[in-house]
Amino acid sequence: MARYIGPVCRLCRREGMKLFLKGERCYTEKCAIEKRNLPPGQHGKLRKAKLVGYGLQLREKQKVKRIYGVLENQFRRYFETAERTRGITGETLLQLLERRLDNVVYRLGFATSRAQARQLVRHGHFTVNARKVDIPSYSVKAGDVVAVRGSSAENATIQHAMEEVKGRGIPEWIAFDAGTLSGRIASLPTREQINLPVQEQLIVELYSK
Ligand code: SF4
Repeated sequence: MARYIGPVCRLCRREGMKLFLKGERCYTEKCAIEKRNLPPGQHGKLRKAKLVGYGLQLREKQKVKRIYGVLENQFRRYFETAERTRGITGETLLQLLERRLDNVVYRLGFATSRAQARQLVRHGHFTVNARKVDIPSYSVKAGDVVAVRGSSAENATIQHAMEEVKGRGIPEWIAFDAGTLSGRIASLPTREQINLPVQEQLIVELYSK
């Protein structure tokens, strides 16, 4: 599948905020947003227009897509599923994205970024309910147990990530077990438990036009 392979800090600068796409670097002063929070491009300094209406809705959608590393078609499918599901569409959309296996691996602290988590999942380092799953978009359910697979516990990238992110905390909807390097989905995340500075209602408005 086609994927954005350009400079990722540019994406944060476009949205004017940290999207935490690069792992450790995002927490240092080397972060591009810390250094110069300007839109990318030659005329970035001049683009200060206040966004309203469609522009605002579009930026909110792009922001969420970029945070979770999801492309347009896949993102729209998530939206359509959220629309068909009972409940508040915007919140259900965020919940579906949070349930992605790569996101859960990231939230558990086995990777420093979602991009790294996606790669680790693809390489088969994780199991769900004791079965190997190498599909980053796999959607976990309440009660599922996501674990580091066998000898992958020795994997240098996973070890390094666990060391790096151990102070960051694990969301309360995942029960982490340090002994077995696993996490049980205690419940599906509520909006309050999804700590993201986004206005999902704007995305609903955008797709409902
Ligand atoms: Fe975004 Fe991280 Fe780059 Fe900062 S370092 S601009 S948060 S990707």
